[in-house]
Amino acid sequence: MTQQWSIAVHGGAGTMTAATLAPALVVAAEAALALALEAGAAILRRGGSALDAVEASVVSLEDEPLFNAGRGAVFTYHGTNELDAAIMDGRGRTAGAVAGVAHTRNPVRLARAVMERSPHVMLSGAGAEEFAREHGVEQVDPDWFATPERWRQLQELKARKLGWFDADLKYGTVGAVACDGAGHVAAATSTGGLTGKRWGRIGDSPLIGAGTYADDRACAVSATGAGEYFIREAVAHEIAARMRLAGFSLQDAADAVIAEVGALGGDGGVILAAPGGQTAFAFNTPGMYRARVDAAGLHEVAIFRG
Ligand code: ASP
Repeated sequence: MTQQWSIAVHGGAGTMTAATLAPALVVAAEAALALALEAGAAILRRGGSALDAVEASVVSLEDEPLFNAGRGAVFTYHGTNELDAAIMDGRGRTAGAVAGVAHTRNPVRLARAVMERSPHVMLSGAGAEEFAREHGVEQVDPDWFATPERWRQLQELKARKLGWFDADLKYGTVGAVACDGAGHVAAATSTGGLTGKRWGRIGDSPLIGAGTYADDRACAVSATGAGEYFIREAVAHEIAARMRLAGFSLQDAADAVIAEVGALGGDGGVILAAPGGQTAFAFNTPGMYRARVDAAGLHEVAIFRG
């Protein structure tokens, strides 16, 4: 029997509903998700690896200004963009991550370089970008990341003295999970973090086991939401562990762990892919920008619940 490939992507979870999100934004977001999904699916369709597929999908979402990753990343309190990303290969549980980079056009590419070309798993700040330059990973002027809408959001947060987790903020982190034709899974996540973040704050996205995890023995996971809660719950690893050690199904493991995040007071969601080719979504927010496609003909692009 031929192994079925599959891929899922997300562009963040949040409070958006069909009543609150402008129709033009719905159309634009769905088009961007479909484009990113296809960037990865094209690789899987021609027999490529899950790792290459999730990287390609996340690069597409990083370059899309609508989402909070790469171009269009949120601003820190001091008006800079500091980006975090991670990638993991379920074959041998190899992983790479970067935190607080400010000049790397596609942080997920740098995370992959860390995984494949350094002896380390995670690099941060100036050191990560020194490594990027040494390995020819594209660097850009910080202006590349800045958009007027994100600037407006920072001013609004300051003017209204909003907290980082205020209910009307949406999490626009991006991610991808995939299973390839050989039955291997991979995950990648990329983010600008939270609007107005300070003090070198790092969320769950680049933390292996929190916002990103891939294990061929269980599944691949990419998360979005209130990062501090996802770190405390070790969400991505916890989902994989429940499948591997407690026999949970993909959906049941994700639902149970997201319910526990909710019980701690956190909100957000996850996308998942299993070595059998199944994909799943779980989130406790009104919406999550998401899409998936597989070799069996499933094709879904959605934002709202239901
Ligand atoms: N999880 C991200 C963080 O806390 C935010 C997001 O999902 O948009 O950095």
